[in-house]
Amino acid sequence: MRQFESEQLTVFQSVLYQTTSAVIKTKEAIIVTDPNWLPNEIAEIKAYIESIIGDRKLYIIYTHSDYDHIIAAGAFPQATTIASVAFVNRTNKEQVLEQIRQFDAQYYIERDYPIVYPHIDIVIKEDGQTLEFPDITCTFYLSPGHTADGLFTVVEPYGILLAGDYLSDVEFPFIEDYEAYAATVQHAQTIIAHKKVEVIVPGHGTTTNNRAEIQNRIDTSLLYLNNLANGSVDETELQKLYPFYTGLTEMHELNKKAVHK
Ligand SMILES: [Zn+2]
Repeated sequence: MRQFESEQLTVFQSVLYQTTSAVIKTKEAIIVTDPNWLPNEIAEIKAYIESIIGDRKLYIIYTHSDYDHIIAAGAFPQATTIASVAFVNRTNKEQVLEQIRQFDAQYYIERDYPIVYPHIDIVIKEDGQTLEFPDITCTFYLSPGHTADGLFTVVEPYGILLAGDYLSDVEFPFIEDYEAYAATVQHAQTIIAHKKVEVIVPGHGTTTNNRAEIQNRIDTSLLYLNNLANGSVDETELQKLYPFYTGLTEMHELNKKAVHK
């Protein structure tokens, strides 16, 4: 289903984990993030892209390599792909593909495209690397912490931040590397201030163009990280903040371990 629509940006939301796929329409390019999850959802995104593409070139940004975010890579073989250097250099790629196969086996899901780890055409090696189009500029920022290969993209002049699995309203931080995660949220704060970000699209949950809500997402992440380090996270508070908290308790336990690594 479509979660958010503006002149340039349409965000699709999967029924699973409220995972998003952003589709940005520019003069000469269509830019998509992480097409996901279910075959009918991929078909809907594909049909939408086909309806607006005209002579435009298709780009797909992979925000990171968790299996839910690369699950439909094989459905877009014609796309020019973008991801971080850590995404390309990930060593256990077969393990991610196996997670997709396991998921599809568990739910008897058939797909009309191959399950592949995406080949990346434009590799983001440096923080602040840019990609210029006639009417827009994409600036990429390395965003490790949730996974080592996270990537933020800011699309100017639209003021869109494609945040991957950060700044969600349905998930507290899912932490692989605590120090890196905290630095990435601080980095997001700086980017939002300097780049005049007006809309953020999280990998899971709700897209927002509300300035106060954007700041609230940053503050909520920082507060959780801080409380986690101090051992003072209030779980009743988390239950109030996150409607699916009962499904996330295990992630909170894993985070407690991550902070002491
Ligand atoms: Zn995710």
